[in-house]
Amino acid sequence: MEIKYVDGWPQPYRLPDAEPYWKALQSRQLTYQKCHACNDAVWPPHSLCPHCGAESLQWEQASGRGRVYSYSTVLRGPTAAWAEIAPYTVGFIEMEEGYYLFSQINAAAPEDIKIGAPVTLEFIERGEQILPIFSLTGS
Ligand SMILES: [Zn+2]
Repeated sequence: MEIKYVDGWPQPYRLPDAEPYWKALQSRQLTYQKCHACNDAVWPPHSLCPHCGAESLQWEQASGRGRVYSYSTVLRGPTAAWAEIAPYTVGFIEMEEGYYLFSQINAAAPEDIKIGAPVTLEFIERGEQILPIFSLTGS
């Protein structure tokens, strides 16, 4: 698979099921799927509910609030664009709605990031794509 770069940033590979997610991000809205049969959050996007098999998946707007579930700080970026922002932290956010989103976690000092720390959604432009990025709540 060919990765497309814009301004040095790799652009996401957009799977058809996730297309509404990428589109909503361009309007700075974070969305996720919710199953209206079993009421569970579904992430990553599917055509059928992975919990109960129902086809009644709907797109909902996320609150943007969550907690750090796991993280890793990258000291040397894999490409020039990433190297320029290193050190940076990525990890899983346990979202208030009950799903886990992989994202960048922003902090003035990476050592301030802790498991369980509350984080708040922000947005960042990377090439043509607007992406979610989380900051420590109240910082
Ligand atoms: Zn379901």
